Amino acid sequence: MRVDLPDLDAMAAFGRRIANVLRVGDVVALSGGLGAGKTTLARGIIAALGHRGEVPSPTFTIVETYDGLAPPLVHADFYRLEDPSEAEEIGLDDYRDGAALLAEWPEKAGGFGHETGCLSIKLEVAEDGRVAIVEPGADWVGRAP
Ligand code: ADP
Ligand code: MG
Repeated sequence: MRVDLPDLDAMAAFGRRIANVLRVGDVVALSGGLGAGKTTLARGIIAALGHRGEVPSPTFTIVETYDGLAPPLVHADFYRLEDPSEAEEIGLDDYRDGAALLAEWPEKAGGFGHETGCLSIKLEVAEDGRVAIVEPGADWVGRAP
């Protein structure tokens, strides 16, 4: 599925559509190069779930948590991982317990495409803003945004 995202309003609207159907255990795998819009879309999802205030990019912390939301969220940026095993070392499984995961640079953590709860979103710069190539895992059938 292809979603045109011509501007920041479209990113926020797409974030709301994802937030509306997001469940504990899901992974939203946000891939695409630097500046593709991964953090922007993550912020749209986090804001749509009712978070007020700053949403720092997890580039340096790797993981930011938003426990008070429904579902609780883990926002991760795996760019700085040198090996996928480091995702385990930072305790990713524990962070994910009872939460949904928004993952930037998912391939650096070994990828999540094998998980049925994975919504894979590849963001690309387009002539007009961005375009998203969306591949929903089996658990997303009937609720794909
Ligand atoms: P990434 O996390 O993929 O590195 P960011 O989300 O930080 O990228 O976005 C980089 C820049 O692109 C930001 O300045 C942001 O405002 C802009 N941007 C994001 N989405 C869009 C869009 N759909 N149209 C135009 N600009 C966008
Ligand atoms: Mg980012």
